[in-house]
Amino acid sequence: MAKEYWIGDVQAGLHDGSEVELKGWIKRTRGSNKIRFIVLRDSTGTIQCVAKREDLGDEIFESLKGALIEASLVLKGSVNADERAPGGHELIVTDAELVGGVRADSPFPITESAMVAADGGETEFLLDNRHLYLRTSRMTNMLKIRSSVFGAIHSYFRDKDFTEYQAPNFVAGAVEGGSTLFEVPYFPNEANPDRKAYLTQSWQLYAEAAMPALERLYTIAPSFRAEKSRTRRHLTEFWHAEMEVAWASNAEIMAHGEGLVRHIAKTVIDERESELSDIDRDIELLARYADNPYPRIRYDEAVETLQGLGIDIEWGQDLDYSKEKVLTQDFEVPHFLTHYPKVAKPFYHRVDPDDGNYVLCHDLLAPEGYGEIIGGGERTWSEEEILARIDEEGVEREPYQFYIDTRTYGGVPHGGFGLGVDRVCSWLSGADHIREVIPFPRDSRRVTP
Ligand code: ATP
Ligand code: MG
Repeated sequence: MAKEYWIGDVQAGLHDGSEVELKGWIKRTRGSNKIRFIVLRDSTGTIQCVAKREDLGDEIFESLKGALIEASLVLKGSVNADERAPGGHELIVTDAELVGGVRADSPFPITESAMVAADGGETEFLLDNRHLYLRTSRMTNMLKIRSSVFGAIHSYFRDKDFTEYQAPNFVAGAVEGGSTLFEVPYFPNEANPDRKAYLTQSWQLYAEAAMPALERLYTIAPSFRAEKSRTRRHLTEFWHAEMEVAWASNAEIMAHGEGLVRHIAKTVIDERESELSDIDRDIELLARYADNPYPRIRYDEAVETLQGLGIDIEWGQDLDYSKEKVLTQDFEVPHFLTHYPKVAKPFYHRVDPDDGNYVLCHDLLAPEGYGEIIGGGERTWSEEEILARIDEEGVEREPYQFYIDTRTYGGVPHGGFGLGVDRVCSWLSGADHIREVIPFPRDSRRVTP
């Protein structure tokens, strides 16, 4: 049963002149009553397979002739290195077995013309058929790049002695403001008929509780946000890589963010060069993101730059996507934006002791118009200050009592960041839309398939 040979290896010339058994799915098929040209694909590549009636006999040849796109096959034969064949190799078939057929009355719906109509993007039709669209080479490439991004995040933190740590997904309070909270009925009872929980927007608050135990911790986990405005960079369920470090300043946390993103870019180049070129991504650009330092600019400077460009923005406003897009369009590398106004950020951001109008925070903005990929900074860490900030913002104390306790018992300066993994995948692969890099995207309209 096990699979011994991979089409990618055959195309790489590893089995020239040998007998092999290839297992895969039909990508294309054509031919006559005597000879069939089947392009077989597996997760590593595609190869043209030549099947002749005179070699295979009527029964086997007829089964291949009737096999439609996406039918699964086991083909035995010998490998020919041939410049004229697509990819430089072909299989001369000596035996064949149709494993899972496709019925003529329900052919595979993702046709070449549906792909052409989508023009590299994603029509509703392709989204409705996402479970089948996953088999296209574009999605295979995206998912492999994505896997390297996840691997790079783990290796970065583990190499630096961070402990991976998991927080609950059902929580009682907001991290990011109430407007994007998902409510879940949570065992209502007589005493509490409206009892509910929320899906977590971030791991951060629960990570801060473990910070005195682990000091350097990270996770990669889903976060949930009821994002009503539909953009090219928001999902309602996204993958969030977060870290928290004790005794660290905003500058030290930024150094980790920069180190991580450069390591991700380098890993993707090292592991996924052929996938990147298949999707027409410029590797020179990615090399720039891996090799060059990321500048830091203050929020005030960014606002001035935007105002200079005639963009309508007032000091104190958070930057939404329309503004980040303009700002980052001409960036050569990611830039950190630091020192946002206190009024633009939630209570857990530490106020700058040098100027109480600002907080010690940062966003990392990706170039080419992609915008924010990291949000982080120092946390408000003294009990006195956290209580004052909670009250100042009119936040209810009760759901955050556990969080306040983390300051009551030996608070220390600390901080961390959250990186949107899907956003990083989208940027590094040059995708038009964040949906393109996640297998089953969730947004305000869609929870199916
Ligand atoms: P934005 O202003 O773009 O909505 P945010 O300020 O709400 O982002 P943070 O709360 O700082 O984002 O979250 C940390 C990171 O998580 C962001 O930098 C981004 O990369 C990612 N992120 C946040 N919301 C989403 C979302 N809805 N879909 C995908 N990624 C997200
Ligand atoms: Mg947001």
